[in-house]
Amino acid sequence: MSDTGDPQGVSNTFEAVIGLEIHAQLMTATKIFCGCSTAFGAAPNAHTCPVCAGLPGALPVLNRRAVDLAVTAALALGCEVQERSVFARKNYFYPDLPKGYQISQYEQPLATGGGLQLPRLRQGSGEAGSMGGKFVKLTRIHMEEDAGKSLHEGFADSDRKTYLDYNRSGVPLVEIVTEPDLRSAEEAAVFFETLRQILVWLGVNDGNMDEGSLRCDANVSVRRRGETKLGTKTEVKNVNSFRYLEKAIHYEIGRHIDVIDHGGRIVQETRLFDAAQGKTYSMRSKEEAHDYRYFPEPDLPPLVVDAERRQVIARTLPELPEARRRRFIEQYAIPEYDAALLTQTRGVAEYFEETARVSGNAKASSNWVMGEILRAMKDNGVAIEAVPITPAALAGLIAIVDRGTISSTVAKEVFATMYETGREAGDIVTAGGLAQISDSSSLEPIVHKVVAAHPDVVAEIRAGKDRKFQFLVGQVMKETKGKGDPKIVTDLLHAVIGG
Ligand code: ADP
Ligand code: MG
Ligand code: ZN
Repeated sequence: MSDTGDPQGVSNTFEAVIGLEIHAQLMTATKIFCGCSTAFGAAPNAHTCPVCAGLPGALPVLNRRAVDLAVTAALALGCEVQERSVFARKNYFYPDLPKGYQISQYEQPLATGGGLQLPRLRQGSGEAGSMGGKFVKLTRIHMEEDAGKSLHEGFADSDRKTYLDYNRSGVPLVEIVTEPDLRSAEEAAVFFETLRQILVWLGVNDGNMDEGSLRCDANVSVRRRGETKLGTKTEVKNVNSFRYLEKAIHYEIGRHIDVIDHGGRIVQETRLFDAAQGKTYSMRSKEEAHDYRYFPEPDLPPLVVDAERRQVIARTLPELPEARRRRFIEQYAIPEYDAALLTQTRGVAEYFEETARVSGNAKASSNWVMGEILRAMKDNGVAIEAVPITPAALAGLIAIVDRGTISSTVAKEVFATMYETGREAGDIVTAGGLAQISDSSSLEPIVHKVVAAHPDVVAEIRAGKDRKFQFLVGQVMKETKGKGDPKIVTDLLHAVIGG
């Protein structure tokens, strides 16, 4: 491929333009128009009823909780929530769509406008991205139901038959559509990461991309730099990882530039990403595209979200990740990098703040959470909620270190025991006799013993070889099994040697 030398797939001649459409499952216990469970992983078709199986005459009833969650997302993203929105029938034939239409908002969506500021540091790596601070506008957020799932493999007769599982059918979704504001594959991936973080933070979405709770369609075009008109776009459907999104867009940008460079034209079409090949391929062209014959759903009244309901929901909005990062940097005087790590999830942010509050030592709290806590979460594959050490218990450990009762090396061992056993730091230190020995009367005999055992070293120190002094400190520490208070040991040695 020509002209795609740099890692963003953007050349000197061409500029990439990207808009995303993100489907996010709303975290309700039941489906959007019936009482069936939304729980993942049930036996196929265990969670179905006449409504979500599309039987004739079954009537949809809108799930109030789903609306509250959709409004929560819209308000958090700065959208204007419409007083009145309308569900419509989007008609097309596909085996996973039992009614023959999907109920979705179309001409009158739940919310319009709004947007999202991209962070300066990437969440996963903490690396600085190139797009720091960029504001990406949203076009709209609307509500809709999910379709079922076609199962093409895993059955004895899968070579001849496709099986259908309607457990997902009628699961509530929001579709979040951006303006074509993104300019590189990396920006698009960062936008998706940032949006995921916010939706999970709000409790609107579980962020589980492997289970299909969050999916992204990427619309990609290129144009010559300086050109204001948009180029012809292609749409890559259903990408369910940040890395794949970045790869798919990168590939697509390169392909567009290549076609145009060779005098060709991009055809508007829908494509799929083949992760194994790292390439996109055509699924259907715009000519084959459906006319969905949208019309308002006759079995549902318009959705009315009045000002009072919007205000009630607005008051429940938590402090969002970006605001919390900024506050952490100011209030606790911690570096931006630390603040980014400490706000990776709302749970981690809350854990850190509670530890800092109880211990009164923000710096130590930050170090413990960024270090041992995040490491333990990673090693054990658990979220902060499943960490068996409470913030108060961690604060207890920090206090013991601050008092000088144990060294930082011993503290790490105490932490490991706390994690394994759920016991308190104080108990572990007392029961294990781990406290630092800092009373001179216990240390003095040991110091005398060490000095007596090494007359030659003592002579060298007295003759001015100061660096031999550390050797004696080390010998005393060894005698105390690492528990001697290094400062007091040093003072005692000085006194005894007379240095
Ligand atoms: P469609 O009707 O094909 O779904 P829309 O106008 O609704 O197209 O836009 C869908 C998404 O595609 C939006 O995120 C929008 O920002 C993006 N988009 C539209 N035109 C372009 C373009 N020329 N290049 C890149 N993205 C685009
Ligand atoms: Mg589209
Ligand atoms: Zn149902």
